[in-house]
Amino acid sequence: MSKKIVGIAEAVIIAAIFIVPAGGVLTHRPSTAVVASPETAPVTATNVDGARIAAADSDPGEWLTHGRTYSEQRFSPLAQINTANVKSLGVAWEYRTYSVRGLEATPIVSDGVMFITLPWSKVVALDAASGKELWQFDPKVPGETGRYLCCDVVNRGVALWKGAVFVGTLDGRLIKLDAKTGRVIWSVDTVENRKKVYTITGAPRVADGLVVIGNGGAEYDARGYVSAYDAGNGKLVWRFHIVPGDPSKPQENAALTVALKTWDTTGKYKFWQIGGGGAPWNGMAFDPKLDLLYVGTGNGNPWNRDVRSPKGGDNLYLSSVIALHAKTGQLAWYYQTTPGDTWDFDSTADIVLADLKIGGQVRKVLMHAPKNGFFYVIDRTNGRLISAQKFAIVTWAKGIDMKTGKPIEDPNARYTNKMAVVYPQETGAHNWQPMTFDPQTGLVYIPAMDGAAIFVADRNFIYRPGAWNTGADFAAVSNAVLQLIKSGKPPAPPVGYIKAWDPVAQKEVWQISMGGSWNSGLLSTAGGLVFGGDAYGIFSAYDARSGKKLWSIDLKTGILAPAIAYSIKGTEYIALLAGWGGAGGLSAFRDPNTALSKYQTDQGRLFVFRLGGRQQVAALAPEGIPPGEPPAQTADAATVQKGFDLYHRNCLVCHGFFAQSEGEVPDLRLVPREIWDQYDDIVLGGALADGGMASFGDILSKDDVGAIRAYVLDQAKAAWAAAHATRPAAKGGH
Ligand code: CA
Repeated sequence: MSKKIVGIAEAVIIAAIFIVPAGGVLTHRPSTAVVASPETAPVTATNVDGARIAAADSDPGEWLTHGRTYSEQRFSPLAQINTANVKSLGVAWEYRTYSVRGLEATPIVSDGVMFITLPWSKVVALDAASGKELWQFDPKVPGETGRYLCCDVVNRGVALWKGAVFVGTLDGRLIKLDAKTGRVIWSVDTVENRKKVYTITGAPRVADGLVVIGNGGAEYDARGYVSAYDAGNGKLVWRFHIVPGDPSKPQENAALTVALKTWDTTGKYKFWQIGGGGAPWNGMAFDPKLDLLYVGTGNGNPWNRDVRSPKGGDNLYLSSVIALHAKTGQLAWYYQTTPGDTWDFDSTADIVLADLKIGGQVRKVLMHAPKNGFFYVIDRTNGRLISAQKFAIVTWAKGIDMKTGKPIEDPNARYTNKMAVVYPQETGAHNWQPMTFDPQTGLVYIPAMDGAAIFVADRNFIYRPGAWNTGADFAAVSNAVLQLIKSGKPPAPPVGYIKAWDPVAQKEVWQISMGGSWNSGLLSTAGGLVFGGDAYGIFSAYDARSGKKLWSIDLKTGILAPAIAYSIKGTEYIALLAGWGGAGGLSAFRDPNTALSKYQTDQGRLFVFRLGGRQQVAALAPEGIPPGEPPAQTADAATVQKGFDLYHRNCLVCHGFFAQSEGEVPDLRLVPREIWDQYDDIVLGGALADGGMASFGDILSKDDVGAIRAYVLDQAKAAWAAAHATRPAAKGGH
């Protein structure tokens, strides 16, 4: 029975042309490089090491590590493609990934080989000149892992070191592959407690021969930590926990003993039992001269501080930048961007190192623009704040007190006894999509967002292992949004920008609006260009000094990942993964007034551009099969209302507000008829677990599922009625 469901549902729901095997992605598909060059680069040993990464500027054709250099500036010294000729940029070749979930990876290029990662933690090696596929590696992450990812089954890339490729997997493994063959050399389990939710989406970094990897899970019940493994033999060398553990036991290190004093241990729920949070799932940078590794830490878990630390407190080291001695993992210093976080203000955005002239002195700084909307310039030798200003709309704090380095909070921003409307929203003023620092202009380019969030405390919070445990009431929030919509005053949709920011003067130099709010990471180059893409699938090059758009191309799918630049045999290339998804792709709902949704259902592709390339991208074959009329509604209004609440507490994050999904995961209103009869099998029985829809049998009862079905069916009936309403023919219509 379940086999049959998998076949029908995935072929239709995921709207793939083919049946997707376990893991939800293709185990192998032929390469579809459109322009295959006769020359094929040999797969060399990719001899990347610390000295080579540190000397990356004398080797500008390569992109050896996540942010190109240890400083993670994402600035390429290549200038063949420049402001004068970028108008002739076009596609050199493309590689179809056969994935339908978000693509977030930074391609890594070394010695003629490009390494990319795909959804479900798959790795692909390609000839970087021709696009010929050299090998693929599928770690076979169980499909049901998808339930434990807040923000899609994504991966942000690999690390290279001495002939090997390192990748973290969604289910928490760190795997070393032979760069020549993709063969597994070793695999270690980074998860110290399998009863808790831990996932990996971030790219490893290698510092001092240690592979450093963090984790996610602070929307569930994780106690975050960062680990360092010997790149040679895979042995754990050190681990730093972001938040304290059980206070009745000795803490793992002195820094956690200090941190414990900033937590309340007397609440009904003990933070060390239900999480604590701080998951360091993305941003890292390394200064080899100082031997300091900088790590951005995540939000509190549960989000609502009143649950995890009811008497308040800063709750170290949540929402912070921490500096660790790379060889030992001992804390050197910390700077907390959001003390006592209660708004999901991860400080996990990228961390960028530079030497800036400030007040006549060259300062070794660290720049960070986390979700909370402030742009921080910090002395990276000691963690002292140099300056901080708002780079987006921020209401939770009035500013930063330069004496204490702490925010001046607006007392209305906390939601202890009331609803609170707060800028920025949970996805932040800037999320994981990397910014870039251009040393030629001295500017930082930030993919920024303005949007408000509504917070309501969950008065009846009950910790549920394996579920979202935020302490915020999403059903109440969704109800509030619904009332606003009904009253004709829907909340303003979030908007996105590229902001050019002067980090010395701490002010905006220019900004341009982007197509959506959830747009791509950015690249700057010595050609005077900034490259970025948007939610509509438009990839553009801008003049780094003025923001003037100089070139763009429609890639037919929303873009999240940052572009890179590299060169082979004297030709400069720009490479970019395009595939819609991530947090914004999962939970945002369609705007019927725009053409957005049509570009957010396509499958992913890697595009590689060069001067004189093809300037048009063909849409992939249309997919999606119109469903039949939904069955009759038999539930009463009270059941539908119960379903509304349950849906928005349990299903919203993947399937969208009001059961309206953008197509990356199924829009539950548009499923084929037989699915309506299989809710129990799917939601309780796990019939679609292989595709990413795990069983919720541990959280929901049969009655709950009936109510959710009733609510979704109500939405489906409304959608059907709207689609089949008689409309006057449009003039010249089709
Ligand atoms: Ca978070």
